[in-house]
Amino acid sequence: MYFNKNNLWIVFYLVAFFWLLSFSVALSSIYKNTFREVIIEQENLTSMTANSLTDSLHKYEVILNIFGELLENCLLTDKELSQARIYSFVNSDPSILAVGFFKPDGRLLLGYPLSASLVHQPLNHIAETKSTFQYTLDSKEMVIGRTYFNDYLGELIIPVRKSVRNKQGEVIFVVSLAISLEKGFSYFIDNIEQSPSHNSYLYREVDRYLQLAPIKKINDKSIYSYQIPVAEINDAIKKLELTTDMSYDQIKASGKVITQEVKRSSQQLLSTNYYLTRYQLWLTTEISKDVIVNNLINKSLLLFFAHLFSIIVIFFLFRKVATGHKKQSDLLFFQASHDYLTNLHNRFYLDQQISNLPPNTAYHLIYFDIDNFQKINNNFNYKIGDKLLIKSSRLLESFIAADDLLIRASSDKFVIVSFSRNKQQVNELAKRILNGFNHTFNVEQYKIKISVNISIASNDSGSTELLTLEQVKRNSVLAMKVAKTHSEHLSFFEDELLASYLERNEIELQLKTALTNNEIYMVYQPLFAKNEQLIGVEALIRWNNSKLGLVSPETFIAIAESTREICSLGEFILQTSMQEIKQVIDSTNIELALSINISVCQFQQEYFFEDLEHFIDITDFNRLQLKLEVTENVLIDDIENIRNLLLKIKHQGIQISLDDFGTGYSSLSLLKNLPLDELKIDKSFVMDMLSDPDSYAMVEAIIAIAKQRDLAIVAEGVETQEIAHALENLDCDVFQGYFYAKPLPKNELIDFIKHKMTIN
Ligand code: C2E
Ligand code: CA
Ligand code: CA
Repeated sequence: MYFNKNNLWIVFYLVAFFWLLSFSVALSSIYKNTFREVIIEQENLTSMTANSLTDSLHKYEVILNIFGELLENCLLTDKELSQARIYSFVNSDPSILAVGFFKPDGRLLLGYPLSASLVHQPLNHIAETKSTFQYTLDSKEMVIGRTYFNDYLGELIIPVRKSVRNKQGEVIFVVSLAISLEKGFSYFIDNIEQSPSHNSYLYREVDRYLQLAPIKKINDKSIYSYQIPVAEINDAIKKLELTTDMSYDQIKASGKVITQEVKRSSQQLLSTNYYLTRYQLWLTTEISKDVIVNNLINKSLLLFFAHLFSIIVIFFLFRKVATGHKKQSDLLFFQASHDYLTNLHNRFYLDQQISNLPPNTAYHLIYFDIDNFQKINNNFNYKIGDKLLIKSSRLLESFIAADDLLIRASSDKFVIVSFSRNKQQVNELAKRILNGFNHTFNVEQYKIKISVNISIASNDSGSTELLTLEQVKRNSVLAMKVAKTHSEHLSFFEDELLASYLERNEIELQLKTALTNNEIYMVYQPLFAKNEQLIGVEALIRWNNSKLGLVSPETFIAIAESTREICSLGEFILQTSMQEIKQVIDSTNIELALSINISVCQFQQEYFFEDLEHFIDITDFNRLQLKLEVTENVLIDDIENIRNLLLKIKHQGIQISLDDFGTGYSSLSLLKNLPLDELKIDKSFVMDMLSDPDSYAMVEAIIAIAKQRDLAIVAEGVETQEIAHALENLDCDVFQGYFYAKPLPKNELIDFIKHKMTIN
């Protein structure tokens, strides 16, 4: 498949788009997985921590129960026994820092290690213990006291207490253990330390104090006297309710680990909560979402680089293809826009440049043409011709300015488009070029002189709209025809050229259908002998076109010759005029010669002679009465063939008349070589012969030549009696002209003859 450069990059963008899409999909799935993993991990951690906490607390509860049972009977009576039992117990568990036995009024009964200094005041008088001590008296379960720093023990402790009751259910004493936060909850601490990105803490539902602070602050004494604001707790509860769609009590009773997203002091957190029902403690484990994102980034980094690498590879592949394409298309464009021989730009480039011009840009087009270049190719060889063209293009290049456009239009034709010169400057440039080419070119061993022509046309025709390039080119071609006939070899386009060109085009067009539309007919101009006796007629063609009116044969015959339309016209002329004059002869009963004008092209037709014979046969025309009028230019080319043809015709008894004698390249040797019967003096001399001595001398000379060669002489264009007399005096044989008769259609000719006969 062929891609142009743009298409190629569109494909690349598509690939890049799908690349981005697949990367996003992969990223989002990684994110989801990471998120899920984090939640699972966090929930596991929370569950494990909760279990270990419950285990520890349960252990202390068991110890409290044992203490209660052991000392229930002896504590108040046998202090020594009691002390011994306490001692053995406390020493067996390093996490138990102290044991105290308190009266229901809060005063210490017995304590270990040092009862007196351990508590100075009754427990219900100390801020940290007051409410929980009271609560212990009311509760049958183990009650956990607030975490606080015990000065005597020199560390943070968590007191756990339980009331010991008699059979009546009255509190006999309260057993209190001081648990070392550090030793008693080492499992909790270890757990957390192993998951450094997590933050776990335990807080008391009853009074909103922290039981175990987050790891970083776990040993910070002051944090345990901070009470979490009610509003914050309420918010958290509301959120939990929303997340789980359960009431707060249901949540607590459910024993579920619940994870939700929360925002705290502009930080997004993932928070997992678990309620330890038995101890009324909330265990919370949190992780910052930033940690998840970082985790995500770490995980997706490899994916990203793999993707990036692949797209870079794809990009370079595409670029390689694109640059390959570019090089190829640059080369193609160069080939398409340049002439292979001279390396000048070509017509394609000119068209493109002109079509890309800003609107209303005026320019002159200088059309440069070498005369008869084909002859140079023929006389030397193509290699020499090519070298001459290259030399010509280099010479042309030396004349142009930077903003001029020089192209080779075709073999020996060049075009310069000038944007900055006015008419006069263009004219000067053209003259400089013509002058520059007026020298001999040295090509290999040859010295070659060429003749060049220049025509100039502008796209600014003076009207509001500028001409198209095609129109300017056409105008320059029209002007070139003129330049070739000028001695200066230079011509500017003029509007009249276009008018006649268009007229000619129209004639050409109309002429194609003239015969079939019956627009063509013949008229006949009578010819007279000295005694005014009618001896013959000249057949003349007429064309009456609905659009163009009557078109002069002088105009359309030349055009018909150039378009080969003359062949069918010629056949029509031969057949019609023989047919009609035969009818005239038959209806008037007089002998009439028929002169028919034959154009050059007709003579060059392969079967002219056969056609002529054919028409004589079908019209049954007397060939001895037939005369063919040829002009001198017929005889220029190919004289041998024409001579043979004329001989053949003459051999049939048909006469040959040389028309328009004196206007062309008349050469006396022609007269000698050709089988002629008659000379016709052109009307241009005849009409002027009495006013212009040169014309008179010409007529006189032609008659003399004719007499000398024994040729009949016809004078056409006799318009006045004076001319007729003058010609008679010069011994002219035959007279033709408006003075005698105008060219007449067949029927009028019959009337004319009959009228003449009645007069005579
Ligand atoms: P041509 O062969 O020299 O024809 C004579 C022309 O002179 C005719 O013009 C004729 O009408 C004109 N003429 C004759 N007497 C006078 C006169 O007293 N005064 C003036 N002013 N003109 C006179 P036409 O018919 O317009 O033909 C012009 C030319 O067209 C002819 O010149 C001939 O070259 C060509 N032509 C006409 N008919 C034919 C034809 O049938 N075949 C060919 N091949 N050429 C024809
Ligand atoms: Ca004639
Ligand atoms: Ca003539």
